[in-house]
Amino acid sequence: MKKTIIGLGAVLIGLIAIVLFRASTVFEDVQIPPAENLARVELDEERVVERMAGAIRFPTISHDDRSNFDADAFLALHDYLRESFPLVHERAELTLINDYSLLFHIAGSDSSLKPVMFMGHMDVVPVDDVTLAEWTHDPFAGVVAGGEIWGRGTIDNKLSVMSFLEATEALIRDGFEPERSLYLSFGHDEEVGGLDGAKAVAEHLAEQGIQFEFVVDEGGVILEGIIQSVDRPVAMIGVAEKGYLNLRLRVDAPGGHSSRPPPQSGLGILSRAIVKLEDNPFPSELTHIKKTFSAYAADAKFTDRLAMGNTWLLSPIIKAALLKDQAVAGAMRTTTAATMASGSSKSNILPTRAEAVVNFRILPGDTAELVRDRVVDIIDDERVEVIMETNINPSPVSPTDSWGYELLSRTIRGFDDDILVAPNLLIGGTDARYFHAVSPNVYRFIMVRANPDTLNIVHGIDERIAIEDYLTAIRFYYALIREATG
Ligand SMILES: [Zn+2]
Repeated sequence: MKKTIIGLGAVLIGLIAIVLFRASTVFEDVQIPPAENLARVELDEERVVERMAGAIRFPTISHDDRSNFDADAFLALHDYLRESFPLVHERAELTLINDYSLLFHIAGSDSSLKPVMFMGHMDVVPVDDVTLAEWTHDPFAGVVAGGEIWGRGTIDNKLSVMSFLEATEALIRDGFEPERSLYLSFGHDEEVGGLDGAKAVAEHLAEQGIQFEFVVDEGGVILEGIIQSVDRPVAMIGVAEKGYLNLRLRVDAPGGHSSRPPPQSGLGILSRAIVKLEDNPFPSELTHIKKTFSAYAADAKFTDRLAMGNTWLLSPIIKAALLKDQAVAGAMRTTTAATMASGSSKSNILPTRAEAVVNFRILPGDTAELVRDRVVDIIDDERVEVIMETNINPSPVSPTDSWGYELLSRTIRGFDDDILVAPNLLIGGTDARYFHAVSPNVYRFIMVRANPDTLNIVHGIDERIAIEDYLTAIRFYYALIREATG
């Protein structure tokens, strides 16, 4: 007996030694050194800010109901861009895709170099009437106040449209002679799926056989005070995004009067199916979380390094802790969300058809078909029909050792070497998903800072950007485009 205890003690001490050793050695500093001597741009700050405010005044709203599409708002924005950026319009070849999306191309002198793509979108989400009164300034008035530019689209995503164009306009003014071709693409329907915009643009480019060295779209931002594990700001570069699947669950039943109900109504059968799905979530994994953590681990708290350096031993404990945060959980598993349901249209009539829609956000590695098959297995009830509707598979995962990723990293850090750069998995969707067809290196990042106070303004109330942040974005893209195009 005594021997066994000593044996267990030795094993335990051995384990603790391994755990501590790994916490201190497994993570190397992988941060790419900051770029030096980046090109600096001269800006007429007042005019730049006024031009951005002007762009906010066009209500280029994407509605779920496409019949509400306001073509005039988009055409007026096109005219505004033409007036605001005469040099870009004179120099670039401009292709209209499906009438409203814009594709600019400035040819480089060396056609053996693959071009680079900077993309964004001109459409914005609507402002909910109920929340309108809560806005400090009218969301479409383009107000500049308190050192900030206010309104819907200031970040998502007229920030990209305007800062790319400001940077390119200034580059041309300063004698831009790129070796590598530059493309700018601005979609008009990102907020409703990007089918007529970005998808068509990507197809147009693929038809011409164009492959890009890298593609930059919106997605990640610089997080400040949001990641608890590290005190420094972290620029998140989205290297992949989750897939999207709607499954319609349908139960057809005899119906009849509610005074003579069967033991299970169509709605009851449907509800059991939904409960089974919620009780059996998809398995979780730490792959993506760990990849993000590893990038800034050298600066992370010791206790977090201790945990993440020993997932071989502590994985169940770590998962249980992380899954409590819904945003983090989204990067760990395919998520299940029952969102819509219907039964009969009258309180005393049994439904002849009960239906629900369950929305899944699919982790890279899973596919829509795999999710559907698993759902059928879990429900395990032939009375419930499972119908596949909107179905977008997860994107491939872009590498972090490509020239494009490294260029982005060192340019970000060239602006502020306190910033750490990390790859992450986007739990939402972007237009970038269509561009994996034209480049293996697709990165989702906009040069803007988010803190706990501003994290929810995108798609929310009081969307706005600090003037200083907007000017930094233009300066950043000026330098980045210069570095990227040679
Ligand atoms: Zn967006």
